[in-house]
Amino acid sequence: MAGKKVFGLNQINPASHALEHKEAAKVAVFGLASDFGCQVQMTNIERELLDVLGMFELVYWQLVSSAPLPEDFDIAIIEGAVCTQEHVETLQWIRERAKVVIAIGACAVTGGIPGLARGNVDDFAKRVYGDVPASCGSMASPRPVSDIIAVDFTVPGCPIEPLELVAVLQRALMGGNPEAGGRSMCGDCRLNEDVCFFERGRICLGLVTRAGCGAPCIKLGYPCNGCRGLAASANLDSARDIVAGYGLDVADFDARLQIFNKAGQDSSRS
Ligand code: SF4
Ligand code: SF4
Repeated sequence: MAGKKVFGLNQINPASHALEHKEAAKVAVFGLASDFGCQVQMTNIERELLDVLGMFELVYWQLVSSAPLPEDFDIAIIEGAVCTQEHVETLQWIRERAKVVIAIGACAVTGGIPGLARGNVDDFAKRVYGDVPASCGSMASPRPVSDIIAVDFTVPGCPIEPLELVAVLQRALMGGNPEAGGRSMCGDCRLNEDVCFFERGRICLGLVTRAGCGAPCIKLGYPCNGCRGLAASANLDSARDIVAGYGLDVADFDARLQIFNKAGQDSSRS
């Protein structure tokens, strides 16, 4: 991973203590390869954002403002996967300036859906475009933001749960620790008193997926498809044993895991 290790805005990193005395931390929002769904989610929480916006000054957000990109900002919020060499250079430019980097959404956190093209980007681009237009830039194998620069906080999900972003912004400002993301979804699901999908003969990725969304899909009758990425505690070998123990198809489980974890899995767990 390129880029130097950085920390939260104040108490974790002594060098950033000066920000405690600033009136407002400057926030810039960037989009890489994505459908902007997580940024749209941000626009849906204007009331909650207003609660914390007194502590922030929004200096750059192309979705809602034509204000030009400034040289100076404190917090960078980044949506989207890294899919071009230009994205790599943009991230390095951002990291040199931002004291805190927050990656939001599955694309930025795990590579997400764009990550499905990992390892085959030229083939996919030819199939989609035929002749790949120059406006696509120098296409590169899709990767999560953390493959290129150090990331201080993540807000996973497809799309994000916007109130989670508000909480992360508050933690970033106060110098709180990043949430470790250790728990898997099953605890939340049990609290909701839902019957486990495995008991119903169906595979559910909640077994290995990072908790925090409140298991809405399961409440609605759909198995989790892992949009929040793997939990830090996920043990894929044990999960495969469980899948096999229920007489379900381990290859199917592995295939489903690829939907949101292909890019991340290349460099992390087996
Ligand atoms: S595997 Fe899925 S359905 Fe079963 S307890 Fe875990 S989250 Fe709930
Ligand atoms: S239940 Fe699973 S697929 Fe649904 S929002 Fe949560 S992590 Fe994503």
